[in-house]
Amino acid sequence: SVTISSEYDFIFKIVIIGDSSVGKSNLLLRFTRNEFRLDTQSTIGVEFAYKQLLIDGKRIKTQVWDTAGQERFKTVIPQFYRGSEGALVVFDLTKPDTFQHVSTWIEEVYRHTPADLPIVLVGNKSDLVEQRAVSREEATALAKHLNLSYMETSALNASNVEQAFVLLVSSVYEKNK
Ligand code: GDP
Ligand code: MG
Repeated sequence: SVTISSEYDFIFKIVIIGDSSVGKSNLLLRFTRNEFRLDTQSTIGVEFAYKQLLIDGKRIKTQVWDTAGQERFKTVIPQFYRGSEGALVVFDLTKPDTFQHVSTWIEEVYRHTPADLPIVLVGNKSDLVEQRAVSREEATALAKHLNLSYMETSALNASNVEQAFVLLVSSVYEKNK
């Protein structure tokens, strides 16, 4: 949906999804408040947060939704996806099982949203260099196969976090402008 007001030119809802503990809540915190927490585990209580971006000279208000821990049950309520215009699908670069579940999360996203919804695949925790267990090559190959963009982020040291969201919101903007 596109809303015009004096504060912003566009407002887009985007969702962050993926397995438990991959860093979704911290990506949201880093992007919207430039904060990081070691102990966000399901108690964070934030349903969504806003961040204003300037893309192509347009003020874009981004409403970012977090699962608030529902993903532990391998699914989230349909309201979570309702009206969303983009998704970040996140896995943990140190946990291969979270990478293996990416396709399932993408199927779940497409079950609730239009098939051409922009999605950015995100490998998070790039700061844990020694513990890396998913290579950039295999993640890039999966992204290519699924026709998605891929970025590696660290919510801890802020590497690529804003870039991943800007990449997603730019695709959403291009589709909706
Ligand atoms: P969620 O369950 O996907 O929302 O994951 P959280 O944001 O709650 O993060 C789970 C755990 O991973 C917490 O202990 C975080 O501090 C930690 N974490 C999140 N992002 C990063 C990151 O980029 N690097 C490192 N080293 N730890 C992270
Ligand atoms: Mg969380």
